[in-house]
Amino acid sequence: MNLIFLGPPGSGKGTQAERISKLLGIAHLSTGDMLRESVARKTSLGQKAQEYMETGELVPDDLILGMIEEKLCSGGWEHGFILDGFPRTIRQAEALKKMIAKNEKEIDKAILLSVSDAEVMRRLSGRFYCPTCKIGYNYPMRLPRQKEHCDFDNTKLVRRPDDEITVVRNRLEVYKRETAPLIDFYRKELILSEIETDDGPDKVTEQLLKEIGKAKKSDSYKDRCPN
Ligand code: AMP
Repeated sequence: MNLIFLGPPGSGKGTQAERISKLLGIAHLSTGDMLRESVARKTSLGQKAQEYMETGELVPDDLILGMIEEKLCSGGWEHGFILDGFPRTIRQAEALKKMIAKNEKEIDKAILLSVSDAEVMRRLSGRFYCPTCKIGYNYPMRLPRQKEHCDFDNTKLVRRPDDEITVVRNRLEVYKRETAPLIDFYRKELILSEIETDDGPDKVTEQLLKEIGKAKKSDSYKDRCPN
């Protein structure tokens, strides 16, 4: 099962991709997580990507496509994957289609998680995480037991720098300009579904599982990455 989770920042793509990938035993590929790791390790990609990420702009397509191609060729997704945060532009979607076809695979579903702008602002302004174990918290929905400290290792919680309000506004604009056109792209491919996320994360997980259950299983496949 090969899935794409689409949606604006704060729509819950990451949370849901993590849950569903565990439930289905498939890989969770988050370009945002890959980039944050490259920034933390100060790799050449991380150094090039950092400024774009801090201002809420998209990292250039060529850098993202190189990173994704490398990831797909390194395996670990033979049972399927959820792409979270990729593709984000029409050019990325077209390149993904070619990469997947080259491996005799296909995207089974692109699922749009919808949320209003006001709800995005509300969710992201309350989002914190533990820099040690990466567990996420949300004020006032999911509070840590001890104020501002992780329940598991007591580390002080922090915010993602791009969750600052001015950056969030730009991320929303960039989403509407660059990424929202993918909704039509996947609608034309007849693989788009939409789920409202107002009813809370558990309800969304339930609805996602129902949608995924309707998607046809992809054929068994062989890896055919170049080199
Ligand atoms: P995310 O964690 O998905 O919200 O991504 C955080 C940031 O990483 C984004 O605001 C972009 O700067 C960058 N990023 C992640 N995925 C992509 C992508 N597919 N294309 C371009 N930039 C990306």
